[in-house]
Amino acid sequence: MLKKSVINNLRNIVGEGNTILESDSLKAHSLDDVMPKAVVFPSSVEEVSEIMKLATKHSLSVIPTGGGTKSFLGNKPPSADIILSTKNLNQVLEHASSDLVATTQSGISIEDLQSELGKENQFLAIDPPHIQHGASLGGIIASNDSGPLRFRYGTFRELLIGLKVVQADGSIFKGGAKVVKNVAGYDLPKLFVGSLGTLGIIVEATFRLYAVPEYSQTYLANFSSIDDCHNALMMLTSSDLAITSLELINPTLALALSENNSIKYKADNYLLAVRIRNVEQAVKDQISKAKQICSNNNGSGTVLSDEVELGFWDDVINFPWALSNTQRTVSKASVLVSDIPKLLMSLDALSSKNGITPYVSVRAGSGICIISFSAEDSNTIASINSLRSFAAALGGHLVVQEAPISVKSEIDVWGDLGSGRSIMKKIKSNFDPDNILNPGRYI
Ligand SMILES: Cc1cc2nc3c(=O)[nH]c(=O)nc-3n(C[C@H](O)[C@H](O)[C@H](O)COP(=O)(O)OP(=O)(O)OC[C@H]3O[C@@H](n4cnc5c(N)ncnc54)[C@H](O)[C@@H]3O)c2cc1C
Repeated sequence: MLKKSVINNLRNIVGEGNTILESDSLKAHSLDDVMPKAVVFPSSVEEVSEIMKLATKHSLSVIPTGGGTKSFLGNKPPSADIILSTKNLNQVLEHASSDLVATTQSGISIEDLQSELGKENQFLAIDPPHIQHGASLGGIIASNDSGPLRFRYGTFRELLIGLKVVQADGSIFKGGAKVVKNVAGYDLPKLFVGSLGTLGIIVEATFRLYAVPEYSQTYLANFSSIDDCHNALMMLTSSDLAITSLELINPTLALALSENNSIKYKADNYLLAVRIRNVEQAVKDQISKAKQICSNNNGSGTVLSDEVELGFWDDVINFPWALSNTQRTVSKASVLVSDIPKLLMSLDALSSKNGITPYVSVRAGSGICIISFSAEDSNTIASINSLRSFAAALGGHLVVQEAPISVKSEIDVWGDLGSGRSIMKKIKSNFDPDNILNPGRYI
Protein backbone atom coordinates (compact mmCIF):
# COMPACT_ATOMS: atom_id res chain seq x y z
CA MET A 1 0.00 0.00 0.00
CA LEU A 2 1.34 3.44 -0.91
CA LYS A 3 1.41 6.24 1.70
CA LYS A 4 -1.68 8.46 1.68
CA SER A 5 0.41 11.52 0.79
CA VAL A 6 1.88 9.70 -2.25
CA ILE A 7 -1.60 8.64 -3.39
CA ASN A 8 -2.85 12.23 -3.08
CA ASN A 9 0.15 13.51 -5.02
CA LEU A 10 -0.39 10.97 -7.82
CA ARG A 11 -4.07 11.99 -8.04
CA ASN A 12 -3.09 15.66 -8.16
CA ILE A 13 -0.61 15.06 -10.97
CA VAL A 14 -2.72 12.94 -13.36
CA GLY A 15 -6.27 13.48 -12.08
CA GLU A 16 -8.56 11.07 -10.23
CA GLY A 17 -9.83 9.42 -13.44
CA ASN A 18 -6.30 8.58 -14.54
CA THR A 19 -5.29 6.47 -11.54
CA ILE A 20 -6.08 2.90 -10.53
CA LEU A 21 -5.68 2.18 -6.82
CA GLU A 22 -8.30 -0.48 -5.93
CA SER A 23 -6.82 -3.97 -5.50
CA ASP A 24 -9.50 -5.66 -7.63
CA SER A 25 -8.58 -3.51 -10.63
CA LEU A 26 -4.84 -3.58 -9.85
CA LYS A 27 -4.79 -7.39 -10.05
CA ALA A 28 -5.43 -7.23 -13.79
CA HIS A 29 -2.20 -5.22 -14.17
CA SER A 30 0.00 -7.76 -12.33
CA LEU A 31 3.38 -8.58 -13.84
CA ASP A 32 4.49 -12.18 -13.35
CA ASP A 33 1.99 -12.35 -10.44
CA VAL A 34 3.43 -9.22 -8.79
CA MET A 35 0.54 -6.83 -8.17
CA PRO A 36 1.31 -3.08 -8.52
CA LYS A 37 0.29 -0.57 -5.86
CA ALA A 38 -0.88 2.01 -8.39
CA VAL A 39 -1.35 2.41 -12.12
CA VAL A 40 -1.19 5.94 -13.51
CA PHE A 41 -2.01 7.32 -16.95
CA PRO A 42 -0.20 10.65 -17.47
CA SER A 43 -1.40 12.81 -20.37
CA SER A 44 1.67 15.01 -20.88
CA VAL A 45 5.46 14.87 -20.69
CA GLU A 46 5.29 17.24 -17.72
CA GLU A 47 3.03 14.81 -15.83
CA VAL A 48 5.49 11.97 -16.51
CA SER A 49 8.25 14.17 -15.15
CA GLU A 50 6.28 14.98 -11.96
CA ILE A 51 5.56 11.27 -11.37
CA MET A 52 9.25 10.43 -11.71
CA LYS A 53 10.23 13.20 -9.27
CA LEU A 54 7.73 11.81 -6.76
CA ALA A 55 8.95 8.22 -7.28
CA THR A 56 12.58 9.26 -6.78
CA LYS A 57 11.71 11.21 -3.62
CA HIS A 58 9.98 8.16 -2.08
CA SER A 59 12.22 5.43 -3.64
CA LEU A 60 9.26 3.85 -5.44
CA SER A 61 9.82 1.43 -8.31
CA VAL A 62 8.30 2.52 -11.63
CA ILE A 63 7.42 0.18 -14.46
CA PRO A 64 6.73 1.90 -17.76
CA THR A 65 4.14 0.20 -19.92
CA GLY A 66 2.67 0.87 -23.35
CA GLY A 67 0.38 -1.71 -24.89
CA GLY A 68 1.47 -4.19 -22.18
CA THR A 69 1.91 -6.88 -24.83
CA LYS A 70 5.43 -7.73 -23.69
CA SER A 71 4.98 -7.44 -19.95
CA PHE A 72 6.32 -11.01 -19.70
CA LEU A 73 9.79 -9.93 -20.92
CA GLY A 74 12.57 -10.05 -18.34
CA ASN A 75 13.13 -11.65 -14.97
CA LYS A 76 10.33 -11.62 -12.37
CA PRO A 77 10.22 -8.10 -10.81
CA PRO A 78 10.91 -7.98 -7.04
CA SER A 79 8.36 -5.14 -6.69
CA ALA A 80 6.04 -2.96 -8.73
CA ASP A 81 5.06 0.20 -6.87
CA ILE A 82 3.80 2.26 -9.81
CA ILE A 83 2.93 1.18 -13.31
CA LEU A 84 3.25 4.22 -15.55
CA SER A 85 1.13 3.72 -18.65
CA THR A 86 1.77 5.79 -21.80
CA LYS A 87 -1.73 5.03 -23.09
CA ASN A 88 -2.77 8.72 -23.03
CA LEU A 89 0.43 9.83 -24.80
CA ASN A 90 -0.89 8.72 -28.16
CA GLN A 91 -0.62 11.66 -30.56
CA VAL A 92 1.11 11.97 -33.92
CA LEU A 93 2.98 15.24 -33.37
CA GLU A 94 4.25 15.64 -36.93
CA HIS A 95 4.15 13.65 -40.14
CA ALA A 96 6.51 15.32 -42.62
CA SER A 97 5.55 13.06 -45.53
CA SER A 98 7.76 14.86 -48.06
CA ASP A 99 10.76 14.20 -45.78
CA LEU A 100 9.64 10.62 -44.94
CA VAL A 101 9.89 11.41 -41.23
CA ALA A 102 7.37 11.38 -38.35
CA THR A 103 7.41 12.39 -34.69
CA THR A 104 4.87 10.83 -32.33
CA GLN A 105 4.24 10.34 -28.65
CA SER A 106 5.38 6.95 -27.40
CA GLY A 107 2.03 5.48 -26.34
CA ILE A 108 0.52 5.45 -29.82
CA SER A 109 -0.31 1.93 -30.94
CA ILE A 110 1.57 0.72 -34.01
CA GLU A 111 -1.80 -0.13 -35.57
CA ASP A 112 -3.10 3.46 -35.19
CA LEU A 113 0.23 4.85 -36.33
CA GLN A 114 0.31 2.72 -39.48
CA SER A 115 -3.23 3.69 -40.37
CA GLU A 116 -2.36 7.39 -39.97
CA LEU A 117 0.82 7.05 -42.07
CA GLY A 118 -1.09 4.96 -44.62
CA LYS A 119 -3.18 8.04 -45.52
CA GLU A 120 -0.01 9.32 -47.23
CA ASN A 121 0.88 5.84 -48.55
CA GLN A 122 3.78 5.56 -46.09
CA PHE A 123 4.60 3.14 -43.27
CA LEU A 124 6.92 2.42 -40.38
CA ALA A 125 8.95 -0.57 -41.54
CA ILE A 126 8.55 -2.90 -38.57
CA ASP A 127 6.27 -5.95 -38.11
CA PRO A 128 6.83 -7.33 -34.59
CA PRO A 129 4.24 -9.59 -32.90
CA HIS A 130 1.17 -8.32 -31.04
CA ILE A 131 0.40 -5.36 -33.32
CA GLN A 132 -3.29 -6.35 -33.22
CA HIS A 133 -3.17 -6.39 -29.42
CA GLY A 134 -2.09 -2.77 -29.10
CA ALA A 135 1.73 -2.93 -29.08
CA SER A 136 2.89 0.68 -28.68
CA LEU A 137 5.70 2.56 -30.32
CA GLY A 138 7.54 3.10 -27.00
CA GLY A 139 7.27 -0.58 -26.10
CA ILE A 140 8.64 -1.65 -29.46
CA ILE A 141 11.60 0.73 -29.08
CA ALA A 142 12.28 -0.35 -25.48
CA SER A 143 12.16 -4.05 -26.38
CA ASN A 144 13.81 -3.62 -29.81
CA ASP A 145 11.29 -6.06 -31.14
CA SER A 146 11.19 -6.83 -34.84
CA GLY A 147 9.65 -9.28 -37.29
CA PRO A 148 10.37 -10.68 -40.76
CA LEU A 149 10.66 -7.18 -42.29
CA ARG A 150 13.97 -6.99 -40.42
CA PHE A 151 15.63 -8.67 -43.41
CA ARG A 152 15.04 -5.61 -45.63
CA TYR A 153 14.74 -2.72 -43.16
CA GLY A 154 16.70 -3.69 -40.03
CA THR A 155 15.35 -3.05 -36.52
CA PHE A 156 14.18 0.16 -34.84
CA ARG A 157 17.81 1.05 -34.32
CA GLU A 158 18.04 1.73 -38.07
CA LEU A 159 14.78 3.70 -38.15
CA LEU A 160 15.11 5.87 -35.04
CA ILE A 161 16.55 9.34 -35.50
CA GLY A 162 15.40 11.18 -32.38
CA LEU A 163 14.02 10.53 -28.90
CA LYS A 164 12.63 12.42 -25.90
CA VAL A 165 13.03 10.65 -22.57
CA VAL A 166 12.05 11.46 -18.99
CA GLN A 167 14.84 10.29 -16.71
CA ALA A 168 14.48 8.71 -13.28
CA ASP A 169 14.88 12.08 -11.50
CA GLY A 170 12.21 13.70 -13.70
CA SER A 171 14.62 15.63 -15.93
CA ILE A 172 13.79 15.62 -19.64
CA PHE A 173 16.42 14.57 -22.18
CA LYS A 174 16.14 15.01 -25.95
CA GLY A 175 18.56 13.42 -28.40
CA GLY A 176 18.79 13.38 -32.19
CA ALA A 177 16.62 15.42 -34.53
CA LYS A 178 14.46 15.22 -37.64
CA VAL A 179 17.39 15.06 -40.05
CA VAL A 180 19.15 11.78 -40.73
CA LYS A 181 22.63 13.14 -39.87
CA ASN A 182 21.46 14.10 -36.46
CA VAL A 183 24.09 13.30 -33.86
CA ALA A 184 27.05 15.32 -32.64
CA GLY A 185 28.64 13.12 -30.01
CA TYR A 186 27.44 9.73 -28.77
CA ASP A 187 24.21 8.61 -30.43
CA LEU A 188 22.31 8.43 -27.12
CA PRO A 189 18.83 7.67 -28.53
CA LYS A 190 20.15 4.33 -29.81
CA LEU A 191 21.09 3.38 -26.24
CA PHE A 192 17.38 3.32 -25.42
CA VAL A 193 16.59 0.82 -28.17
CA GLY A 194 16.26 -2.46 -26.27
CA SER A 195 16.82 -0.85 -22.84
CA LEU A 196 13.54 -2.37 -21.62
CA GLY A 197 12.45 0.63 -19.60
CA THR A 198 15.48 0.45 -17.34
CA LEU A 199 17.07 3.78 -18.34
CA GLY A 200 14.17 6.21 -18.70
CA ILE A 201 10.60 6.68 -19.88
CA ILE A 202 10.54 7.17 -23.66
CA VAL A 203 7.91 9.85 -24.30
CA GLU A 204 8.45 10.89 -27.93
CA ALA A 205 10.26 9.45 -30.92
CA THR A 206 11.21 10.66 -34.39
CA PHE A 207 11.77 8.02 -37.05
CA ARG A 208 12.19 7.55 -40.77
CA LEU A 209 9.45 6.15 -42.99
CA TYR A 210 9.14 4.27 -46.28
CA ALA A 211 6.62 4.36 -49.10
CA VAL A 212 4.17 1.41 -49.04
CA PRO A 213 5.30 -0.96 -51.83
CA GLU A 214 2.83 -1.33 -54.68
CA TYR A 215 2.79 -5.14 -54.91
CA SER A 216 3.81 -8.20 -52.93
CA GLN A 217 4.24 -11.94 -53.42
CA THR A 218 5.87 -14.77 -51.47
CA TYR A 219 7.45 -17.90 -52.87
CA LEU A 220 7.06 -20.80 -50.45
CA ALA A 221 9.47 -23.63 -51.22
CA ASN A 222 9.41 -27.17 -49.69
CA PHE A 223 12.72 -28.96 -49.04
CA SER A 224 13.02 -32.53 -47.81
CA SER A 225 16.58 -31.88 -46.60
CA ILE A 226 17.76 -29.09 -44.28
CA ASP A 227 21.05 -28.90 -46.18
CA ASP A 228 19.30 -28.22 -49.52
CA CYS A 229 17.09 -25.66 -47.79
CA HIS A 230 20.12 -23.96 -46.24
CA ASN A 231 22.05 -23.95 -49.53
CA ALA A 232 19.11 -22.24 -51.24
CA LEU A 233 18.98 -19.73 -48.39
CA MET A 234 22.69 -18.90 -48.74
CA MET A 235 22.31 -18.47 -52.53
CA LEU A 236 19.29 -16.23 -52.07
CA THR A 237 21.05 -14.00 -49.52
CA SER A 238 24.07 -13.57 -51.82
CA SER A 239 21.94 -13.01 -54.95
CA ASP A 240 21.01 -9.59 -56.35
CA LEU A 241 17.34 -10.10 -55.45
CA ALA A 242 15.79 -7.29 -53.35
CA ILE A 243 14.21 -9.65 -50.80
CA THR A 244 11.85 -8.12 -48.20
CA SER A 245 11.65 -11.13 -45.83
CA LEU A 246 13.31 -14.53 -45.80
CA GLU A 247 12.16 -17.09 -43.27
CA LEU A 248 13.12 -20.73 -42.69
CA ILE A 249 10.42 -22.78 -40.98
CA ASN A 250 10.80 -26.20 -39.35
CA PRO A 251 8.42 -29.07 -40.32
CA THR A 252 6.27 -28.87 -37.16
CA LEU A 253 5.49 -25.21 -37.67
CA ALA A 254 5.28 -25.63 -41.46
CA LEU A 255 2.45 -28.14 -41.02
CA ALA A 256 0.53 -25.85 -38.64
CA LEU A 257 0.95 -22.79 -40.90
CA SER A 258 -0.03 -24.63 -44.08
CA GLU A 259 -3.14 -26.14 -42.44
CA ASN A 260 -4.21 -22.78 -41.04
CA ASN A 261 -3.85 -21.06 -44.42
CA SER A 262 -4.90 -23.95 -46.69
CA ILE A 263 -1.51 -24.01 -48.42
CA LYS A 264 -0.16 -27.15 -50.14
CA TYR A 265 2.66 -28.69 -48.08
CA LYS A 266 4.78 -31.83 -48.38
CA ALA A 267 4.85 -33.65 -45.03
CA ASP A 268 8.07 -33.39 -42.97
CA ASN A 269 9.58 -30.75 -45.27
CA TYR A 270 11.31 -27.53 -44.24
CA LEU A 271 9.81 -24.39 -45.75
CA LEU A 272 11.68 -21.39 -47.08
CA ALA A 273 9.51 -18.28 -47.50
CA VAL A 274 10.88 -15.61 -49.85
CA ARG A 275 8.86 -12.40 -49.86
CA ILE A 276 9.39 -9.63 -52.44
CA ARG A 277 7.58 -6.28 -52.26
CA ASN A 278 8.08 -3.80 -55.10
CA VAL A 279 6.32 -2.72 -58.31
CA GLU A 280 4.34 -5.61 -59.84
CA GLN A 281 6.68 -6.53 -62.70
CA ALA A 282 9.79 -6.39 -60.49
CA VAL A 283 8.08 -8.68 -57.95
CA LYS A 284 7.07 -11.23 -60.59
CA ASP A 285 10.55 -11.24 -62.20
CA GLN A 286 12.29 -11.70 -58.85
CA ILE A 287 9.87 -14.35 -57.60
CA SER A 288 10.64 -16.38 -60.71
CA LYS A 289 14.41 -16.03 -60.04
CA ALA A 290 13.87 -17.12 -56.41
CA LYS A 291 11.90 -20.12 -57.70
CA GLN A 292 14.84 -21.03 -59.95
CA ILE A 293 17.35 -20.84 -57.08
CA CYS A 294 15.14 -23.09 -54.93
CA SER A 295 14.61 -25.51 -57.79
CA ASN A 296 18.39 -25.75 -58.34
CA ASN A 297 18.54 -26.96 -54.73
CA ASN A 298 15.70 -29.51 -55.02
CA GLY A 299 13.04 -27.18 -53.64
CA SER A 300 9.57 -26.73 -55.07
CA GLY A 301 6.45 -24.94 -53.94
CA THR A 302 3.79 -22.31 -54.46
CA VAL A 303 3.45 -18.57 -54.90
CA LEU A 304 1.32 -16.79 -52.30
CA SER A 305 -0.50 -13.53 -53.04
CA ASP A 306 -3.22 -11.32 -51.59
CA GLU A 307 -5.09 -12.53 -48.48
CA VAL A 308 -3.34 -15.92 -48.28
CA GLU A 309 0.05 -14.21 -48.29
CA LEU A 310 -1.01 -11.73 -45.59
CA GLY A 311 -2.50 -14.53 -43.46
CA PHE A 312 0.68 -16.61 -43.80
CA TRP A 313 3.00 -13.79 -42.66
CA ASP A 314 0.67 -12.82 -39.84
CA ASP A 315 0.89 -16.42 -38.59
CA VAL A 316 4.70 -16.46 -38.95
CA ILE A 317 4.92 -13.33 -36.78
CA ASN A 318 2.46 -14.41 -34.10
CA PHE A 319 2.79 -18.22 -34.11
CA PRO A 320 4.08 -18.76 -30.54
CA TRP A 321 0.98 -17.14 -29.10
CA ALA A 322 -1.44 -18.69 -31.58
CA LEU A 323 -0.35 -22.30 -31.07
CA SER A 324 -0.57 -22.86 -27.35
CA ASN A 325 -1.48 -21.11 -24.14
CA THR A 326 -0.54 -23.48 -21.38
CA GLN A 327 3.02 -23.90 -20.13
CA ARG A 328 4.28 -22.02 -23.19
CA THR A 329 7.95 -21.08 -23.44
CA VAL A 330 9.17 -18.73 -26.17
CA SER A 331 12.89 -18.27 -26.75
CA LYS A 332 15.00 -16.29 -29.14
CA ALA A 333 18.30 -17.97 -30.04
CA SER A 334 20.80 -16.18 -32.24
CA VAL A 335 23.52 -18.02 -34.16
CA LEU A 336 25.51 -17.40 -37.32
CA VAL A 337 23.48 -17.86 -40.50
CA SER A 338 25.92 -20.63 -41.45
CA ASP A 339 25.11 -22.45 -38.17
CA ILE A 340 21.30 -22.50 -38.58
CA PRO A 341 21.19 -26.22 -39.63
CA LYS A 342 23.27 -27.20 -36.57
CA LEU A 343 20.85 -25.47 -34.21
CA LEU A 344 17.84 -27.07 -35.92
CA MET A 345 19.50 -30.51 -35.66
CA SER A 346 20.18 -29.98 -31.96
CA LEU A 347 16.50 -29.08 -31.48
CA ASP A 348 15.48 -32.32 -33.18
CA ALA A 349 17.72 -34.26 -30.80
CA LEU A 350 16.23 -32.42 -27.82
CA SER A 351 12.68 -33.10 -28.88
CA SER A 352 13.23 -36.85 -28.69
CA LYS A 353 15.28 -36.64 -25.47
CA ASN A 354 13.04 -34.23 -23.49
CA GLY A 355 9.70 -34.96 -25.14
CA ILE A 356 9.20 -31.44 -26.48
CA THR A 357 7.69 -30.47 -29.84
CA PRO A 358 9.41 -27.25 -30.89
CA TYR A 359 7.87 -24.88 -33.42
CA VAL A 360 10.67 -22.86 -35.03
CA SER A 361 10.85 -19.95 -37.40
CA VAL A 362 14.28 -18.59 -38.35
CA ARG A 363 14.90 -15.02 -39.55
CA ALA A 364 17.16 -16.48 -42.18
CA GLY A 365 19.12 -13.31 -42.90
CA SER A 366 20.19 -12.78 -39.29
CA GLY A 367 20.26 -16.25 -37.71
CA ILE A 368 17.59 -15.34 -35.14
CA CYS A 369 15.54 -18.43 -34.28
CA ILE A 370 12.15 -17.99 -32.59
CA ILE A 371 11.48 -21.24 -30.74
CA SER A 372 8.22 -22.10 -29.02
CA PHE A 373 7.23 -25.24 -27.13
CA SER A 374 5.08 -26.40 -24.22
CA ALA A 375 6.31 -28.93 -21.66
CA GLU A 376 6.49 -29.81 -17.97
CA ASP A 377 8.72 -27.41 -15.99
CA SER A 378 11.59 -29.87 -15.57
CA ASN A 379 11.70 -30.67 -19.31
CA THR A 380 11.45 -26.99 -20.16
CA ILE A 381 14.35 -26.07 -17.90
CA ALA A 382 16.49 -28.95 -19.17
CA SER A 383 15.73 -27.98 -22.79
CA ILE A 384 16.52 -24.31 -22.24
CA ASN A 385 19.81 -25.15 -20.52
CA SER A 386 20.86 -27.55 -23.31
CA LEU A 387 19.88 -25.14 -26.07
CA ARG A 388 21.62 -22.26 -24.35
CA SER A 389 24.86 -24.24 -24.00
CA PHE A 390 24.60 -25.35 -27.62
CA ALA A 391 24.02 -21.78 -28.89
CA ALA A 392 26.91 -20.53 -26.72
CA ALA A 393 29.24 -23.22 -28.11
CA LEU A 394 28.41 -21.87 -31.58
CA GLY A 395 29.27 -18.35 -30.38
CA GLY A 396 25.57 -17.46 -30.11
CA HIS A 397 23.12 -16.65 -27.35
CA LEU A 398 19.65 -17.56 -26.11
CA VAL A 399 17.11 -15.30 -24.37
CA VAL A 400 13.90 -16.66 -22.90
CA GLN A 401 11.20 -14.19 -23.91
CA GLU A 402 8.28 -15.85 -22.15
CA ALA A 403 7.96 -18.83 -19.79
CA PRO A 404 5.72 -19.99 -16.93
CA ILE A 405 6.57 -18.12 -13.71
CA SER A 406 7.61 -21.42 -12.10
CA VAL A 407 10.26 -21.78 -14.86
CA LYS A 408 11.33 -18.14 -14.69
CA SER A 409 12.06 -18.51 -10.97
CA GLU A 410 14.59 -21.26 -11.78
CA ILE A 411 16.52 -19.64 -14.64
CA ASP A 412 17.98 -16.30 -15.69
CA VAL A 413 15.96 -15.39 -18.78
CA TRP A 414 18.84 -13.35 -20.22
CA GLY A 415 21.60 -15.92 -19.79
CA ASP A 416 25.24 -14.90 -19.40
CA LEU A 417 25.74 -11.26 -20.45
CA GLY A 418 29.50 -11.79 -20.34
CA SER A 419 32.04 -9.03 -19.79
CA GLY A 420 29.51 -6.41 -20.93
CA ARG A 421 27.50 -6.85 -17.70
CA SER A 422 29.68 -4.56 -15.54
CA ILE A 423 29.59 -1.79 -18.18
CA MET A 424 25.81 -2.17 -18.46
CA LYS A 425 25.53 -1.88 -14.66
CA LYS A 426 27.54 1.37 -14.76
CA ILE A 427 25.31 2.77 -17.52
CA LYS A 428 22.23 1.79 -15.50
CA SER A 429 23.53 3.42 -12.33
CA ASN A 430 24.38 6.63 -14.20
CA PHE A 431 20.89 6.95 -15.66
CA ASP A 432 19.04 5.56 -12.64
CA PRO A 433 21.24 5.77 -9.51
CA ASP A 434 18.44 4.67 -7.13
CA ASN A 435 17.45 1.72 -9.34
CA ILE A 436 13.76 2.63 -9.50
CA LEU A 437 13.14 2.00 -13.20
CA ASN A 438 12.08 -1.60 -13.91
CA PRO A 439 14.36 -2.96 -11.14
CA GLY A 440 15.36 -6.60 -11.38
CA ARG A 441 13.89 -7.14 -14.83
CA TYR A 442 17.12 -6.83 -16.71
CA ILE A 443 20.25 -5.25 -15.27
C1 LIG B 1 31.63 10.83 -30.67
C2 LIG B 1 30.88 10.70 -32.00
C3 LIG B 1 30.87 11.79 -32.90
C4 LIG B 1 30.20 11.70 -34.13
N1 LIG B 1 30.23 12.75 -34.98
C5 LIG B 1 29.67 12.62 -36.22
C6 LIG B 1 29.78 13.67 -37.19
O1 LIG B 1 30.35 14.72 -36.94
N2 LIG B 1 29.21 13.46 -38.41
C7 LIG B 1 28.55 12.30 -38.71
O2 LIG B 1 28.07 12.17 -39.83
N3 LIG B 1 28.42 11.33 -37.80
C8 LIG B 1 28.97 11.46 -36.59
N4 LIG B 1 28.86 10.44 -35.67
C9 LIG B 1 28.06 9.27 -36.05
C10 LIG B 1 28.92 8.10 -36.43
O3 LIG B 1 30.08 8.47 -37.05
C11 LIG B 1 28.19 7.21 -37.39
O4 LIG B 1 26.96 6.85 -36.86
C12 LIG B 1 29.04 5.99 -37.57
O5 LIG B 1 30.13 6.40 -38.29
C13 LIG B 1 28.36 4.91 -38.29
O6 LIG B 1 29.27 4.25 -39.14
P1 LIG B 1 29.76 2.81 -38.96
O7 LIG B 1 28.72 2.03 -38.25
O8 LIG B 1 30.20 2.36 -40.27
O9 LIG B 1 30.97 2.95 -37.92
P2 LIG B 1 32.54 3.01 -38.26
O10 LIG B 1 32.78 3.92 -39.38
O11 LIG B 1 33.04 1.64 -38.35
O12 LIG B 1 33.17 3.61 -36.96
C14 LIG B 1 32.67 4.81 -36.38
C15 LIG B 1 33.55 5.22 -35.18
O13 LIG B 1 33.47 4.19 -34.18
C16 LIG B 1 34.75 3.65 -33.87
N5 LIG B 1 34.59 2.23 -33.73
C17 LIG B 1 34.31 1.33 -34.72
N6 LIG B 1 34.22 0.09 -34.21
C18 LIG B 1 34.41 0.22 -32.88
C19 LIG B 1 34.42 -0.70 -31.80
N7 LIG B 1 34.22 -2.02 -32.02
N8 LIG B 1 34.63 -0.23 -30.56
C20 LIG B 1 34.82 1.11 -30.33
N9 LIG B 1 34.83 2.04 -31.33
C21 LIG B 1 34.63 1.59 -32.57
C22 LIG B 1 35.62 4.01 -35.03
O14 LIG B 1 36.93 4.12 -34.60
C23 LIG B 1 35.05 5.34 -35.47
O15 LIG B 1 35.54 6.40 -34.67
C24 LIG B 1 29.52 10.51 -34.45
C25 LIG B 1 29.54 9.44 -33.57
C26 LIG B 1 30.19 9.54 -32.34
C27 LIG B 1 30.18 8.39 -31.38
